[in-house]
Amino acid sequence: MDRSKSPEPHEPAGIYVHIPFCKRKCPYCDFYSITALDLMQRFVPALKQEMTLAVAELSRFDTVYIGGGTPSLLKAARIDEIIDTVQRLFPIMPAAEITIEVNPGTVTAAELKDYRNVGVNRINIGVQSFQDKNLKFLGRIHTAHEALKAFKMAVGPALIISALISSMQSRARPELHGSGIWKRPSPWSPNISRPIR
Ligand code: SF4
Repeated sequence: MDRSKSPEPHEPAGIYVHIPFCKRKCPYCDFYSITALDLMQRFVPALKQEMTLAVAELSRFDTVYIGGGTPSLLKAARIDEIIDTVQRLFPIMPAAEITIEVNPGTVTAAELKDYRNVGVNRINIGVQSFQDKNLKFLGRIHTAHEALKAFKMAVGPALIISALISSMQSRARPELHGSGIWKRPSPWSPNISRPIR
């Protein structure tokens, strides 16, 4: 094992918590997630139990990242339980960055505010594209309008970042290169200009 890039004992590190549930599986996605949402209720207690078994070899952590999957399928009360358990069991620094990944098709303004109230200070919105044709191609559950709405709703409650996909058609459908049905990828610039505006 190459330990050359391992953090020094005194360097803060990050904790990643995976929430492995999605409303629907996007065809391009390699992340582990399942659509058996009836298991979500049992998942949080099991996750908390597993955290008690983990041993933190590092002395402190300056980031907690709740990713997925679709963590925003969990209500703020469940996210609160997770953050509380992490903070109780691991040495989390007082000004730690606490992020949740949000799917624009699963949140309201009130829920984003609730996440903020339980300690989330950074929201990663899985926009992927601000163009409906691209979102449809990707099999996403939300529209461009919903993506923009989530982006605007999150501006107040917390620092936001937005996940976008570039060159999606060439990556997702390489077999179409050179064929009659290959079309030029949608321009990338609208995806950048929409959130900036
Ligand atoms: S919502 Fe995200 S994690 Fe879930 S299947 Fe789609 S890309 Fe993957």
